[in-house]
Amino acid sequence: MQLARLPRVRLAALPTPLEEMPRLRSALGGGPRLFIKRDDNTGLALGGNKARKLEFLFADALAQGADTVITTGGPQSNHARMTAAAAAKLGLASVLVLTGERPAEMNGNLLIDALVGADIRFTGSDDDAVAARAMEQVAAELRAAGKRPYVVPLGGSNQLGTLGYVAGVRELIAQAEEAGIAFDRIYVTSGSAGTHGGVILGNRLYSYGARVTGISVSRPRALAEDLVRRVAQACIDKYELPVTLSESDVEVDDRFVGPGYAKITDGGKEAISLLARNEGIIADPVYTGKALAGMIDHIRSGRIGRDETVLFWHTGGAPALFVYSEDFR
Ligand SMILES: *Cc1c(COP(=O)(O)O)cnc(C)c1O
Repeated sequence: MQLARLPRVRLAALPTPLEEMPRLRSALGGGPRLFIKRDDNTGLALGGNKARKLEFLFADALAQGADTVITTGGPQSNHARMTAAAAAKLGLASVLVLTGERPAEMNGNLLIDALVGADIRFTGSDDDAVAARAMEQVAAELRAAGKRPYVVPLGGSNQLGTLGYVAGVRELIAQAEEAGIAFDRIYVTSGSAGTHGGVILGNRLYSYGARVTGISVSRPRALAEDLVRRVAQACIDKYELPVTLSESDVEVDDRFVGPGYAKITDGGKEAISLLARNEGIIADPVYTGKALAGMIDHIRSGRIGRDETVLFWHTGGAPALFVYSEDFR
């Protein structure tokens, strides 16, 4: 497969910056050299990791002649926000089928969903399977009305979306080589797994050899690792990537999830505060704060060697921060 030949729409401002974090390193006692890949700066209605996935997903939607894009997520879904923004940019309609009940306040991501013109609906259930069925129902209704809907799965984590982070790794390697840096390790959040899976695939496909660690934001380790493996393998199969995944490629640490998905943790709060005060960079309570808490724990506990060079892949999420303002009082 030639990745460069696959259709892709330009939605993200790439390459995103690669920056060193010397003050965070000092704050942690001067251990490993720390860098951050700023995918919070992709652009597209406040940025985030979904922009890379959506470049491939929307190319497919346009190739199929879609006029409406349907997707799902939680009420504060970054993915839903960025999908609706991409639809607006490309002149498509969007329907967001969000889990749970309609919140009393139009805040954070939900506010932006409305601003970019999404048709926002709530399933009244926390079950992703209920939302998936609801999306198919919306698609059927639209088709019956003569429209051409295109369904983007949860998190955009199918084979196409995963390619976004395969390409992201290629971008990272070029930047690192130009800067004369070689990463021993890469830390990333692991949610619906397209990002983590894509990073693993890129790392193998381009023979980079970093150790990739995913920090789970929801699932227990065994389930999360299984999901990453399935998402990555589906991408290998579909695009005939010359990669054979081994056991050691897929590594998830689930000790930073706390009480559950989107539930703020003390470790996450500390990590958000450390990153903000030392580097002026904003993480979020749902994803990047927990992932950073994981990386910080691995540094403090000596799991990461002092002479290693480590990348934290920032995946965005700050729009949801405002919904948690009371937790930072
Ligand atoms: C969706 C999301 C993630 C997780 O990415 P997956 O590909 O779903 O694993 C991480 N960080 C932020 C801010 C996100 O919105």
